[in-house]
Amino acid sequence: MRLVIAQMKHETNTFSPVPTPLARFARAAAQPLEGAAVRDAFKGTGTAIGAFIDLADQAGAEAVYPVAGNAAPSAPVDSAAFEAMAGRIVDAVARGCDAVLLDLHGAMVTRAHDDGEGELLTRIRRIAPEVPIGVALDMHTNLFPAMGQLATVIAGYQTYPHVDMYETGARAARPIFSLLNKKTKPTMRFGHRPMLPHVMRQSSLDSPNREIQARAKAMERQGAGKEHARVLAASFFVGFPHADIPYAGSSAVVVTDGDAAKAQALCDELLGMAWDAREQFVYRVEPLEQSLARAKGMGAGSLRPVVLLDHYDNCASGGTMDTMAVLGGILDAGLEEAAAFAICDPQAVEQMKRAGVGARVTLPLGGKMDMPALGLKGRPREVTGNVRRICSGLYRNEGPMARGELADMGPAAVLDTGKVEIAVISRHVEPHDIAAFRALGIEPEKKRYLMLKSRVHWRAGLGPIARAVIECAGEGVCTSDYSTLKFRRVRRPIFPLDPA
Ligand SMILES: [Zn+2]
Repeated sequence: MRLVIAQMKHETNTFSPVPTPLARFARAAAQPLEGAAVRDAFKGTGTAIGAFIDLADQAGAEAVYPVAGNAAPSAPVDSAAFEAMAGRIVDAVARGCDAVLLDLHGAMVTRAHDDGEGELLTRIRRIAPEVPIGVALDMHTNLFPAMGQLATVIAGYQTYPHVDMYETGARAARPIFSLLNKKTKPTMRFGHRPMLPHVMRQSSLDSPNREIQARAKAMERQGAGKEHARVLAASFFVGFPHADIPYAGSSAVVVTDGDAAKAQALCDELLGMAWDAREQFVYRVEPLEQSLARAKGMGAGSLRPVVLLDHYDNCASGGTMDTMAVLGGILDAGLEEAAAFAICDPQAVEQMKRAGVGARVTLPLGGKMDMPALGLKGRPREVTGNVRRICSGLYRNEGPMARGELADMGPAAVLDTGKVEIAVISRHVEPHDIAAFRALGIEPEKKRYLMLKSRVHWRAGLGPIARAVIECAGEGVCTSDYSTLKFRRVRRPIFPLDPA
């Protein structure tokens, strides 16, 4: 048995000014991994491709790894980057295989294609119309029809924060192995509802997504072990709203063993649950001044930190990670015993490296990128502090999210104002793992306040140490205020842009 196993992941924010060249898909290298290096990097990690590798080993299959690339969310993918990665995958399939296992995101837009994943599958199908294709997708998939029509099996994350990447890989791959062994006949149906849930209301730790995902999991248990109409995979995708493309928004996919009507009925049930709960997916924004005033009243006597969530500028949703509105507010309010992760500003890191550890520096921090989609210019803020630490920026996630995977924040430094320790980094990483702080010599659990540029994923690794969270509406391209985003191409009507 010969398998093609590949990863090509990007969540595209069409409002983001952050470019997406091929190098963004790599860690600690200029190019994404290929060949045996993929296996070495992902074997034993809590990722979908990690599960593919394990299952291929267990089946005694021969596997080839044309590419593994995973870029932090940003603007549409450069055509050259897409062609390089898709080309390697298609070439590997063209050399002949029994099945293809793909670890994709599901919300990739390229400079040439609204549906990056659908374009990849179209090219594979052109040369291998019958080959079974199993696809693991992120819960933030914006599902175009091509994906649902061309894949054999689709399974999406059932958790947000995404702590079930490995299990999702297994859910996508197992039906493919059963099909190859002629034990199942995966039959897939998909559908949509015209809704753009706010990301801040999408966590599977909260209603209504908690109940929807629980129902999807229950569907997969139902009929397990019986001969007929087993549910092989059930997925509800909240969708990624910061993408002005026709199929942005919520969708569902259900795969049964040979029963199309059942797959359709269960798919409709998941979509119905989401549509009925659409008002609960709407996030209400609190003005920043009000949030910071509340924060000031909460700091005293705390044993564990209060998280100040700079959620408009989350690099894992396409944020520049260099807006200074929330950090500036924290400095102005005089909050003490605080740490901030992070401001992405390679120039500032260089300046601190030149000054050296222990030096006192004054520099224009952040605000290096304009945000034309919002009509905003980047606004640096002058900050004075001591250079506390300088490091390479490589660390390994402790989990539970993407456990064991290498993370790369690029050359990094800590700027200590005396009240706030500010992590300044050179590559985008979202703080969802405690190792991000520890790599910089910061012990987050000992702080009164933690400013995090994140929305939901911080809860994976840092939720357990937080005493409370205050959501701070700063500045950035993952704003929860849809009225500031100009949607022109998303299909209309769609809730809540158009009241139902
Ligand atoms: Zn996601």
